[in-house]
Amino acid sequence: MNCPTHKKEFRDGKFGQFCATKLEDGGWCKEKPPKDDGYVGEKEHQVAQTSNEFAESLGIKKEVDWEAKDRQSMSQTSLKSASEIVAALIAIGDPKSIEDAEKMVKKTANFFYKELKGMKEQE
Ligand SMILES: [Zn+2]
Repeated sequence: MNCPTHKKEFRDGKFGQFCATKLEDGGWCKEKPPKDDGYVGEKEHQVAQTSNEFAESLGIKKEVDWEAKDRQSMSQTSLKSASEIVAALIAIGDPKSIEDAEKMVKKTANFFYKELKGMKEQE
């Protein structure tokens, strides 16, 4: 990977790779190689996108509301949270199929729903 301005290969430095060209003002060239080819960012984006698609496919548009009191908002909250977790798991390759993912969402959502119900009953 070369500096686009100076066509010099980036060197490893204390704070990541840099272009070892001194500028007129005495500082180093400010060009940096792109971060890890954007891999991490891409992954995060993928998780967020999958999570939203999941939530939408389940008819969920609301944000997670942990203070939810009524039955409907508790189930919405449970499903939204579950879909976010499963989406994160999909991004790392488990579950492998959409069928498995949907089962996992339902199972996780049921668990959250029970938890929320329990929290509500304690109040
Ligand atoms: Zn440079």
